[in-house]
Amino acid sequence: MIIQLEPNIKADQLQQLEERLDAIRYSTTRVTTQFADYIIGVGKAEFDIRSIGTLPGIRDIHRVSDAYKLVSKKWKVEDTVIDLGDGIQLGTGHFGIMAGPCSIESEEQIEKTITHLQQEGVRIMRGGVYKPRSSPYSFRGLGIDGLKMWYKRTREAGIKIITEVMMVEQIEAMADYVDVFQVGARNSQNFNLLDALGEVDKPVLLKRGISGTIDELLQAAEYIFSNGNERVMLCERGIRSYETAYRNTMDVNAIAMLKEKTHLPVIADPSHGIGLRRYVDKIALASIMAGADGVIMEVHEQPEKAFSDGQQTLSFPEAARLYRRMRQAYELREAF
Ligand code: PEP
Ligand code: MN
Repeated sequence: MIIQLEPNIKADQLQQLEERLDAIRYSTTRVTTQFADYIIGVGKAEFDIRSIGTLPGIRDIHRVSDAYKLVSKKWKVEDTVIDLGDGIQLGTGHFGIMAGPCSIESEEQIEKTITHLQQEGVRIMRGGVYKPRSSPYSFRGLGIDGLKMWYKRTREAGIKIITEVMMVEQIEAMADYVDVFQVGARNSQNFNLLDALGEVDKPVLLKRGISGTIDELLQAAEYIFSNGNERVMLCERGIRSYETAYRNTMDVNAIAMLKEKTHLPVIADPSHGIGLRRYVDKIALASIMAGADGVIMEVHEQPEKAFSDGQQTLSFPEAARLYRRMRQAYELREAF
């Protein structure tokens, strides 16, 4: 059960509510986000919801029996739209493209990518400065100095930054230079990291774990939300299956299902989703048809020279063609 409190609820009203919940043996958690105050109740007893809903100091109440609650559409029917400022929004009704290299490599690379994005009207740039790599001998990113250099260039260009944070300890130093924190597939159930990102007032894009279920993804999002941050997006980036012909199996099914289960924006990552350049366009378009609110994809001036994930990275002309087709696909879908 979720109870949204009135912002000006009085102490005695709160006490009355807590006593009522105690009487039906519901355990409670208080949640305060940047937007509202809630009490999450968990219990088994049957009761008439009106006996609580009519108490003073309550704005809204709903039964949500799923393990995830605040991120459920059963709680919030109206979809969440995340505002990044400067007229950039993500969520239902606002198709978003995030594009950039897998790794931030150099100032020159940043500048070339920004010029490309500006030409194509893409306003969010992706790129990793802390890279989770399967091998410890691979390039692991330029770190905080790379992020600061990148940030300076994007501010001049009016472009937003999405980048991966790997550890709780990195959050504070990164926060001033990041528009959206990305949680990578390998950290999808790093609950300490999720808790900590709940305490930051910055949007978070949470990727699905490599072998994560839809339910686990939603519960991971619930960690961020219930720690105080309502600005969460989910990202389908392919899962590990028995198929070895491509890097991951893009679970397009999950996109359709997530759009029904949650009010949070759902983003598709076709680059990691299939892991092979020549299929990225098809998987991106399929993801849009399945309901994705946006696409995050890897682009590079010279993909074959990229420090990481070159095999799944589009060149600028390939990417430009795909942006146009994605926008068309989105228009078509919305008109259905
Ligand atoms: C990435 O976005 O470059 C990345 C490492 O993604 P994932 O966590 O989905 O593997
Ligand atoms: Mn990558």
